[in-house]
Amino acid sequence: MFASVLIANRGEIACRIARSAARLGLRTIAVYSQADAGALHVRQCDEAHPIGPAPAAESYLVIDRLIEVARKSGAQCIHPGYGLLSENAEFAEACAAAGIVFIGPPPSAIRAMGLKDRAKALMEKAGVPVVPGYHGERQEPAFLKQKAYEIGYPLLIKAVAGGGGKGMRRVDKHAEFEAALEAAQREAVSSFGDARVLIEKYISAPRHIELQIFADGHGNAIHLNERDCSLQRRHQKVIEEAPAPGMSAELRAAMGEAAVKAALAVGYAGAGTVEFIADGSKGLRPDGYWFMEMNTRLQVEHPVTEAITGLDLVEWQFRVAAGERLPLTQDRVPLRGHAVEARIYAEDPARGFLPSTGTLLALQFPGGVRVDTGVEQGSAITPYYDPMIAKMIAHAPTREAALDGLASALERTIAAGPHTNLALLAALCRAEEFRAGQFDTSFIERNMATLGGGSADYAAAAFGAAELLARDMVRIKRSLGRAADVPASPWDATDGFQLSSARALRLPILVDGAPLQAEVKYGPGGAAVAVDGVAAALDATAIPAADAIHVLRQGRQTVVRRADPGSGDLDHASGDGQIRAPMHGKVLVLLVADGERVKKGQRLAIIEAMKMEHALTAPRDGRVAGIAVAAGMQVAESAKLMTIEAIDE
Ligand code: ADP
Repeated sequence: MFASVLIANRGEIACRIARSAARLGLRTIAVYSQADAGALHVRQCDEAHPIGPAPAAESYLVIDRLIEVARKSGAQCIHPGYGLLSENAEFAEACAAAGIVFIGPPPSAIRAMGLKDRAKALMEKAGVPVVPGYHGERQEPAFLKQKAYEIGYPLLIKAVAGGGGKGMRRVDKHAEFEAALEAAQREAVSSFGDARVLIEKYISAPRHIELQIFADGHGNAIHLNERDCSLQRRHQKVIEEAPAPGMSAELRAAMGEAAVKAALAVGYAGAGTVEFIADGSKGLRPDGYWFMEMNTRLQVEHPVTEAITGLDLVEWQFRVAAGERLPLTQDRVPLRGHAVEARIYAEDPARGFLPSTGTLLALQFPGGVRVDTGVEQGSAITPYYDPMIAKMIAHAPTREAALDGLASALERTIAAGPHTNLALLAALCRAEEFRAGQFDTSFIERNMATLGGGSADYAAAAFGAAELLARDMVRIKRSLGRAADVPASPWDATDGFQLSSARALRLPILVDGAPLQAEVKYGPGGAAVAVDGVAAALDATAIPAADAIHVLRQGRQTVVRRADPGSGDLDHASGDGQIRAPMHGKVLVLLVADGERVKKGQRLAIIEAMKMEHALTAPRDGRVAGIAVAAGMQVAESAKLMTIEAIDE
């Protein structure tokens, strides 16, 4: 076994690797960018070294710098985690050249699977079923369009260098092909520096089923059962589970065999995942699954496999890389109970899952579940990296019990500051159809109306308004020089209150940016606050911020602040036609010019943030005015981009 490891990653996966490494007695060496100087992974390792500025391209992705730190610190091996350099063959080669063991497969295996088109061709040859489509060399738009026609719609355009759902577009109609191709290529270039794409038949009611495989350097390869990762948004996994609902032992064996065949075909070693797409329209069937791609690294969702097998996959990675044989044979791989993982993201499901940045004002997880995280209360979610806050994993004897446990833990999680998807995740765990095993990869999109939480949580808003009032009372008492415990009269308040009836006040508030009024009634029992007739919640938690109260209730966050009549629009979704950047990012394209007439819903500009494209659309019919940005410019969150003026005719 090794004596030391450099972890070439950050966030939760760096912390998770450090945990196993420390247990195995390895000295752990962290690296960090300027944005991560105070990060959890830095503190959890035995030593830490700075590697450059915040953008990953200038720090976590700089191979020479990582090798230099590894050399200086005497690291015997480098664990790349997932993402970043984990599937970079040059990095694996650079490690080897420096005499440091790369925890991963040989560079040749990374290369063989690195490009989706080549991998598909290889798998076809090895006798593994692949999705029908075009994965050849030719890339002229007219040729690809002809191929698309032959394959038939709906279909998917995928970046051959793709990953994480980027550079991927579904096309339903022949007329929409060119636009989708352009968008896919643009995203492919910005994310991977490679515009090439392939085209695939879109499988209806698709389920994403993947096999965890492991191979050692002695010719042994096994699988560690499957995971179902069908619950996705923007083609990215949100909830993963093991085993897959509806999976039979026979089909598991067959898919496992195909996965092992795929790994052996490329001379694999270490942990890997073979992803299949299955036609879920008539249940999982032996003739209804196809190879999609192989990820030549540890996956984000590996903990569900660890839960049902009782194994530590990171430990296995170290052992195999150190030359040991696989500790188990196929027939001895356990499968106990059911595990479900939810990815908790700083993002806003109500606004197209836009990543959300900012300081975590509060962060607390309940017990009874596994939580893998790389942040803590006070950490900032920055625009530089993936906005994941944590992974939460529940394990129980049955799927129902695991889903119940996860839903309840998600609802009891306290995360305030940036928007989070906690409420959506809890709603997913409780969704009847999903629980009945009736779901596919578009489940979230199809059910957003019921999952998204719908209209504002008035009970939480009222609770927040009551907290704002209480805070104001304390301030007023202080400013009047009274002792804090002397009951103050609400009539002392001089700011913003309007008298509406004898013993009621109306307090203008903003609830998630939308103007509302809180009704405050004073009776013998004190103040009672309601919003739209709904009384303040009793089961909410208040997290105070400088100018707002963040109310957490059942996994959902409602931000309540005093409406300041003078300050104009506080939210870029406000009705005055101002278009603001929803987050830090780069303006990729401007689709309109000053003075141009636009229709409500028309696309105005595309902003790229966290390597994903977000289209900004016109909130109303009108005329474009005051364009304040140009393509290529970086913009800060809520920076004004342009205005859509109303046209009076
Ligand atoms: P990436 O490498 O970018 O994650 P994948 O090829 O793994 O891309 O696909 C990601 C997701 O897109 C899959 O999990 C699945 O939901 C969907 N998908 C991929 N290929 C198809 C297809 N041919 N038909 C339907 N859905 C697909």
